[in-house]
Order: sequence, then structure tokens, then C-alpha cells
Amino acid sequence: QHFLNRIKTHNVNLNAFISVTEESALAQAAAADKQFADKTAGKLTGIPMAHKDIFCTKGVRTSCASKMLDKFVAPYDATVVEKIAASGMVMLGKTNMDEFAMGSSNETSFYGPVKNPWDTERVPGGSSGGSAAAIAARLAPAATGTDTGGSIRQPSSLCNLTGLKPTYGRVSRYGMIAFASSLDQAGPMTANAEDAALLLNVMSGFDERDSTSVERDVPDYTANLNDSLQGLRIGLPKEYFGEGLAPEVAEIIDAAIKQFEKLGATVKEISLPNTSLAIPTYYVVAPAECSSNLSRMDGVRFGHRCDDPKDLLDLYQRSRGEGFGDEVKRRIMIGTYALSAGYYDAYYLKAQKCRRLISDDFQQAFEEVDVIMGPTAPTTAFKLGDKTDDPVAMYLADIYTINTNLAGLPGMSIPAGFANGLPAGLQIIGNYFDEARLLNVAHQYQ
Ligand code: GLN
Repeated sequence: QHFLNRIKTHNVNLNAFISVTEESALAQAAAADKQFADKTAGKLTGIPMAHKDIFCTKGVRTSCASKMLDKFVAPYDATVVEKIAASGMVMLGKTNMDEFAMGSSNETSFYGPVKNPWDTERVPGGSSGGSAAAIAARLAPAATGTDTGGSIRQPSSLCNLTGLKPTYGRVSRYGMIAFASSLDQAGPMTANAEDAALLLNVMSGFDERDSTSVERDVPDYTANLNDSLQGLRIGLPKEYFGEGLAPEVAEIIDAAIKQFEKLGATVKEISLPNTSLAIPTYYVVAPAECSSNLSRMDGVRFGHRCDDPKDLLDLYQRSRGEGFGDEVKRRIMIGTYALSAGYYDAYYLKAQKCRRLISDDFQQAFEEVDVIMGPTAPTTAFKLGDKTDDPVAMYLADIYTINTNLAGLPGMSIPAGFANGLPAGLQIIGNYFDEARLLNVAHQYQ
């Protein structure tokens, strides 16, 4: 009730939620109370949370912040939704996001932009901007996010939160509406590392309904939070500290790294020489995959359908023309072009080769260091509207996060400090399945 009340008061201004599921939340809370009375409650029983509106929720609208799915009620729960419900957590509602998770500012949503609670003239980041704003404004203690190129970490940085993108394959993608299937990964967004560990414990694990899910034991992510960082080897990629990084963010990151040295870590400069390939590689791979994934929104099976179609082609064209926003259309066009006959080798295949080079850079680095650190985003939160006319400027907001998705590695953003009243996050990148270490490092910093 406390959180529902806060949502009622503040959501009008922040626009963090697309749907609030008050009735079922109160029913779940009552069920939790009963479990406490019966002494059958688990660790997370009764704790409220919110889901990004990209996860299918049975009987509840699942819009992906698109007009295309404005009236879509999912017939089943995503695995992540199922697992979180089974833990006893209570869903408060579905959070706003960029349309189909395409964006870095939450300004492409069909339901309007989300505002950053630290300064409501500024963006919360994206695409999981609704989840970030909801936690930062204490409308929910925790939320799910998804990260294809930075969408958990960048909004966490801009809203002073802890956000973790797990290793590709750690968390099931079943029922999570696909943007770029080879990059998408769900993860926790919380106020601190301990909460992230608790939520990741519940979200992780093999799922036979997701063919890219990895069959591997899930450790207890809370078990190592208190380990000492004595001897931890930190690598600082010189490519993450060059031109484009705002000086006030650089200062915050430098101070955070000094703090790790005090905690017993050693620091060395490393190089990830193919970093400059990340944005162009991503903006071939992600649009190519999204153009394929979004072809299912054809006005026939589900989603928006235009009025009085003349014939099948008219049905496709007008339903898609009316249902998708500009950024989604831009990506579909780029992706369709990149995949078309005669261009595949020049673009998609080439991008896959670059992707391998980027992964190899990281593997080489992890021979010498345990974790890699740097800024999560090049700047603090920018003003609403500042980058909406310049897609390339918007794409650069993910310059430090995208490589991790291309390589499939886990990455995390943690609150590192403030400049002019605005937060900036420190990014910690680990080797495959090293989430427990990332959480340990994050917890020790707090
Ligand atoms: N901002 C990036 C994009 O627009 C990443 C989005 C994401 O991680 N979902 O594609």
C-alpha cells in the first residue's frame, strides 16, 4: 500500500509506470501476509517490485511502450515473471521504456517520456528508464530491466542505482519481447548490490524454453558479498577515458578507483583496441536482428491492426506504418537493408567478424586482470529533447556499454558520485559467469 500510494502521488509527474496492477498487488500482499502468519514465507515474500513492460505478464497488458502492442494482453508469463512471482515478490505494475527497448533516454515511448527524479527536466536514461525512475523515486524497491546495448546500466548510472546485465544465457529470455536476440539479456535494477544479488538469485537459471539459456548451476549470489578485495586486479581500458568523457564524470570515476585501491585492489592500464568498432558493429547487428524479430508484428496475429484494409499488403503496410514509432522504423529500415541480398557479406557478416575481435580484446584483458572498470556513460543525465533530433548523438550514450553485449559478458553499474547534483555510475565488467565477483566488488564499495 505504501508503494501504491507513492505511485499515485508521483507517477503523474514522472511517468515511470505504464500500468499499475493495484488490485492484484494487494491480493498478492494479502497472500504474503498469510505466509508470514503460517511461517511459510521465503526471503523475498511480500517485497514489492516492478517489471519493465517488455516482459509478458499473463492477463496484464504488455505493451513494450509501442502503439503496436497498446492493447496486447499477454497470454502467458515470461520465465523471469514466473520465477519472481514464485519467490513471493509482489508485482506493482509495468514500467515505461523506450519503444521496443530502442533508445537511451526513454523518449521513444508511445506513452511519453519518463522524467529523471533527480532533475525532472532531464532524461532517466533508457531503455529501462521507467524501472530506473521508479526505484530512484522510491516508487518501488526493485525492478527488472533488459540490456541489449546498455539499457540496464546506463539508466542506473543516470539515476544513481545498481544495475546488472548478466552473462548472455544466464537469465531466460522466454517471454521477454525480443529486440536483438543475440544481445538481449534481463537483469536486476536495485538500490544496492545486496538487493541485486537477491534478485539475480531468483531470476537466473537454465530454461529449456530459451535455446540460448545456459545449463549451469546458479550460485548463491549473496554468499561472497563480504569477501575482501585484497589483491583484486582492476584493469582500466585507456579507450574508456579518452575524448568524449565529460570531465566531471572522469573525476568521479577516478575517485571511485582510488577507493578500490584503498580496499586493497591493484590497478593497471589496459587496452581494448577494437573499442571504436563497437557502435558501428552494434548498429548493424541490432537493427538486423530487430528487423527480423519485429516482422511478427504484421497486424494479423496480434497487435495493432489498421481499419478497413483493402488487401493483405495494405493491411501490413498501414498496420505497421501506424503501429511503429520513428526510431523503430529507422531500425527496421537499416536492418532490412543490411540483411538484403548482396549486402549481407558487406554488413552483417562483417559486423559478426568485428564482434569476434571485440570479444577477443576482452579475453586478452582477462588474462591479466580480474575485472575491468570505467565510466558507465560519458555524461550525467542530459536534458529532455537534447538529443531527439540527432540519432547518432543518442547512440553515443552507449559507447562504454555496448561492447559488453557484443561479447556477451556481464557488466554492472554502481552509484559512484555526483556532479552538479546529478549522479554518475561506475561500470564494472567481468568475465563470463563472474556475476558473483561483480556483486562482491560492488558491495565492498558501498
Ligand atoms: N540504447 C541502445 C539502443 O538504442 C541500447 C538499448 C538497449 O539496451 N535495449 O539500441
